[in-house]
Amino acid sequence: MKYLRILIIFLIGLSVISCSKVPITGRKQLKLIPYSTMMEMGQTNYATFLKENPAINPPTRSSAEVSAVGVRISKAVEKYLRDNKLGNKVEGYKWEFNVVDSPDANAWCMPGGKVVVYTGILPLTKDDAGLAVVMGHEIAHAIAEHGNERMSQQLAVEAAGIGLDIYMQQKPQQTRDIFMSAFGIGSQVGMLGYSRQHELEADKLGLVFMAMAGFNPERAVSFWQDMSKVGGNKPPEILSTHPSDAHRIDKVKEFLPEALKYYSSNAPEQVKNTNQTKAVTPDPKKPVTPADNRKPGVKIK
Ligand SMILES: [Zn+2]
Repeated sequence: MKYLRILIIFLIGLSVISCSKVPITGRKQLKLIPYSTMMEMGQTNYATFLKENPAINPPTRSSAEVSAVGVRISKAVEKYLRDNKLGNKVEGYKWEFNVVDSPDANAWCMPGGKVVVYTGILPLTKDDAGLAVVMGHEIAHAIAEHGNERMSQQLAVEAAGIGLDIYMQQKPQQTRDIFMSAFGIGSQVGMLGYSRQHELEADKLGLVFMAMAGFNPERAVSFWQDMSKVGGNKPPEILSTHPSDAHRIDKVKEFLPEALKYYSSNAPEQVKNTNQTKAVTPDPKKPVTPADNRKPGVKIK
C-alpha cells in the first residue's frame, strides 16, 4: 500500500513535470498539489488573514493607488496569458488588492490573485511605477505557482509514508501553516519563503508584467537600489532569501532589454508620461476592495 502511494505520487509528479512550465521563462516545475486545492486554500487563508489583519477601509489615496496599479497589471497579465493559450494559469482568478497597516516592508499574492500590500513598503515604492515593481513581482510568484512548488517540496517530506491527500485531510492546521509559510507570511520558525531561484524568476516575470501594463521596467533598478539600503533582522518576503543585492540588480539590468520590448508595445504616450510621478486618481464608482470579508469603518490596528 505504501509503495502504491509512493508510485502514485511519483506518477503524478511525472505527469506534472512533463506538462507544466512557467510562462515566459519556460522552466519546468514539479507541483504535487492540485490547482483547485491551491485556489481553495488561497481563498480561505486570504479571508482569514484579512479577518485578523483588517484592510484599510474606507480606501485612502495610497490604497486606491495600490488597487489601480494592481488592476492594470492583472488585466495585462490575463490578456497576455489568454492570447498565448495560457489562460489556464489564471482560471478562476478573482483578483483582490488590499492594503494592510503594518510597519513591515512587505507584500504578497496568494493563488487566485489575492494580493496584500503592507503600508510599510509604500515609502519605498514612492510612485506608481515603484508599486508596479513590487506588485509585478508578487503577481509573478502567483502566476508561476511558486507557492505550489514550495508546498510540494515541504509536503513530500512531511507526508512521506502517509500520502499527500491523507496528510492534508488529517492535518489541516499543519497544512495551513505550510501554505502560509510557503508564501512568506507569518513568523513561524523554519519559514519556507521562496527560493533564491523563485525570487530571480519573479523579478524577471515581474518586469515583463509591469511593462505589459505600461509601466517602465527601468524603474526596477532604482527600486532595488533603494531596497538594498533597507536593513533589519526580519527580512520581508521580497528580500526573503537574500539574493545578494548586487547580483539581483545585475540580473534585473541583464533582463531589462527583454522586458523593454513588452513596454514599447504596451506604453501609450499618456501612460509613459504619467506613470513616473503622478498618482492614479481613484474612480469613485469603482469598488477599490471587494468588501466581502471586511466591515466598513474597521479600526486599523
Ligand atoms: Zn519574492
